[in-house]
Amino acid sequence: MRAYVINRFGGPEVFEAADLPRPEPGPGQVLIRVAASSVNPVDCKIRRGDVPVGPEFPAVLHGDVAGVVEAVGAGVTAFRPGAEVYGCAGGLQGRPGALAEYMLADAELLAPKPASLSLEEAAVVPLVAITAWEAIIEKGRAQADEAVLVHGGTGGVGHMAVQLARWRGGGVAATASEAAKREQAQQLGAECVIDYRQETVSQYVQRCTGGRGFDLVFDTVGQPALDQSIEAAALKGRVVTIAGRSTLDIKPAFQKSLSLHTVFMLINMLHDYDKAAHGNILREVGGLIDAGTLRPLIHEQRFGFSEVAQAHALLESGRAMGKISLVAD
Ligand code: NDP
Repeated sequence: MRAYVINRFGGPEVFEAADLPRPEPGPGQVLIRVAASSVNPVDCKIRRGDVPVGPEFPAVLHGDVAGVVEAVGAGVTAFRPGAEVYGCAGGLQGRPGALAEYMLADAELLAPKPASLSLEEAAVVPLVAITAWEAIIEKGRAQADEAVLVHGGTGGVGHMAVQLARWRGGGVAATASEAAKREQAQQLGAECVIDYRQETVSQYVQRCTGGRGFDLVFDTVGQPALDQSIEAAALKGRVVTIAGRSTLDIKPAFQKSLSLHTVFMLINMLHDYDKAAHGNILREVGGLIDAGTLRPLIHEQRFGFSEVAQAHALLESGRAMGKISLVAD
């Protein structure tokens, strides 16, 4: 089968076309004819060699996938050949990813594609929606009438988080750097939009919460936003981060306020592939998408798999809004 692989770590230029054997599904596995994928920051980190979870060379990267079931392994009853599915299921050590004609996935990590999305649209959803769900609903336990702040409100994870927090009934604030992103954040449901380069934390805490602070802060950025997340939280507020490696990342000046809050780290989600919950979360997310409650925000410039290098360069430039989609070619 045709695939795009890396044979060394490095910049976006390391991608190259290759012919690989088509895999066969083992017990519990689904073989997917890949229609589309998307770029997540972790794909760039793996490509650069920055995280110790890269697959063996030649490495097929990218976890997000949407496609059509080609075959199923022993014991798989949830999906039949011909079904359209989506999920986040590979691109890591021992699990080749989606940048190929076919990809193997554990059936428990997949869900039926939301009916209202094309395969291309569905492929941008899995990793960011699972992450936002775990942060806002499971760890953050966002409640109606709570004030929620999402740092990075138009990013991949952030734009899902804003919509999920809104769905839970909370008042949502979101940060965004450019005017177009701020307008988009508002359209996603943020009532209070923050240009973090213009306003100090105390200014926006005053403007958005009357000075009380946010009950739940979701940091999708890491430093320096992580310190600001701690500073912006209300007394006994909850802070969830996916981009801090430990509480030691937090500046000493804010360490002392840590005891006043609950801080959750979601740094290991990608290692958590044994978790059948991911397929279940994607079923819930699919329901919200089909009900019109959640919608993926897709960057306007589209890419084919053969343009994966350009797509990585765009993500790393920080200029993309929402998700970058990649269609099999
Ligand atoms: P994106 O690149 O799509 O979004 C990042 C966002 O950060 C952008 O919206 C950007 O928008 C904002 N941003 C950048 N710098 C700053 C800053 N100084 N202050 C405030 N906002 C800033 O990435 P994702 O949303 O897909 O992922 C975010 C991070 O979370 C990545 O590091 C990723 O690897 C990690 N992640 C971790 C997971 C886990 O389980 N631990 C799972 C998924 C993602 P703006 O233009 O407004 O600055």
